[in-house]
Amino acid sequence: MTYQASFKCINPACGATYPLNTIVYSCRECQSLLEVQHDTAALARRSPAAWMKLFEERYKSNQWPYGSGVWGKKEWILPQVEDRNVVSVYEGGTNLFWAERFGKIIGLNDLWIKLCGNTHSGSFKDLGMTVLVSQVKQMISEGAPIKAVVCASTGDTSAALATYCAAAGIQSIVLLPRGKISMAQLVQPIANDALVLYLDTDFDGCMRLVREITRDPTLYLANSMNSLRVEGQKTVGIEIVQQFDWETPDVMVIPGGNLGNVSALGKGLLMMKDLGLISKLPRIVVAQAERANPLYRAYLNGFKNFEPMQAQKTLASAIQIGNPVSFEKAVRTLAQFEGIVEQATEEELADAVAMGDRTGMFNCPHTGVALAAMLKLLKAGKIDKSERVVVLSTAHGLKFVEMKVKYHQKELDFPSRYANQPIELPANLDAVKSALDRALETRAKF
Ligand SMILES: *Cc1c(COP(=O)(O)O)cnc(C)c1O
Ligand SMILES: [Zn+2]
Repeated sequence: MTYQASFKCINPACGATYPLNTIVYSCRECQSLLEVQHDTAALARRSPAAWMKLFEERYKSNQWPYGSGVWGKKEWILPQVEDRNVVSVYEGGTNLFWAERFGKIIGLNDLWIKLCGNTHSGSFKDLGMTVLVSQVKQMISEGAPIKAVVCASTGDTSAALATYCAAAGIQSIVLLPRGKISMAQLVQPIANDALVLYLDTDFDGCMRLVREITRDPTLYLANSMNSLRVEGQKTVGIEIVQQFDWETPDVMVIPGGNLGNVSALGKGLLMMKDLGLISKLPRIVVAQAERANPLYRAYLNGFKNFEPMQAQKTLASAIQIGNPVSFEKAVRTLAQFEGIVEQATEEELADAVAMGDRTGMFNCPHTGVALAAMLKLLKAGKIDKSERVVVLSTAHGLKFVEMKVKYHQKELDFPSRYANQPIELPANLDAVKSALDRALETRAKF
């Protein structure tokens, strides 16, 4: 059985289509975003039970590349790419962590954290980048004159792009906002031999330049306005449902910046519903940092108008975006999933990170935004304590240790309620014993 997919314009009044090996990022007729459209009728010829069985057989198997969480669902993602052109580091298949202790503390017994950051380059961006770079390798093998793949980034897209390009032997170029990403995020593309341009601007400024330079078709664009990335990222929702033995949770909470990921989450879940694997959809919550909250502002006015904003500096640096490329797709997703948008202040997100960490997580600040938003909605009664809730953790905390260090050293603009500080003392037994006696006595119970 062969399956077909192509790009389709998301504007219903247009609907132009393009083969997937066309170098095109937005509609040539009407400039709208594109999305990958699958042949649902062909996919529906296989029963829901047969799809579930196939996905389970492949899951984390040694059958390359189908053991990858993305490529295990290849027919739903990028059916036409040849296996020999797949560039995979076995992304996906990440743990769905039962946050038992955190949940008990906040009064939510069925809370789960999808650890998308426990992956090769440390963020969910791997899920999408494997698809995009595989398609590039396919096009190069067909003779396309692509010299390099380019992205603007808040740090994680560039790390993922550099990884996959290095593995495939394709040149990557990354445009990064100077001083607005973490040290780990800067060194990742440097180590992976990317051409790193470090610019005195913010993400939105880098993005504008990338749009200009990728008018040259030999420089292929890897930002999420390229809908190939969405295809890989959409496996996250499918994988979560699979990890619950094909039962849909009640609520999914996801941090949003450029808003590609929430669109992807929705797309995967809708595909499962269309093909009969699930009948229920979860509610989706998008969590934004208060300092970069254009979607939240639009939500408050019922999406009647959208104003791009100048994003302010936030600890959640990967979502410091004022003009999200996938705004329209995200609004559509929110309409389909009884969507809610919530925001978190710097203090709320940092305390949520630390609270979660105290119960065995190791959160990035964006996961903190999602946890804080979830806490606020639980308090407001918009999430019920009987519900099964999944928070999508988007990156590994090890990429953001600067923020954790500052929090625990109380160097941020607020009190750091859950700070834990090392005790400095001479290396002798008496000093250690008396310090332990004192500390264990006074240590606050959580
Ligand atoms: C990219 C990113 C996000 C935001 O995803 P969007 O698709 O831009 O909304 C959130 N968290 C982390 C860690 C990211 O790298
Ligand atoms: Zn169009």
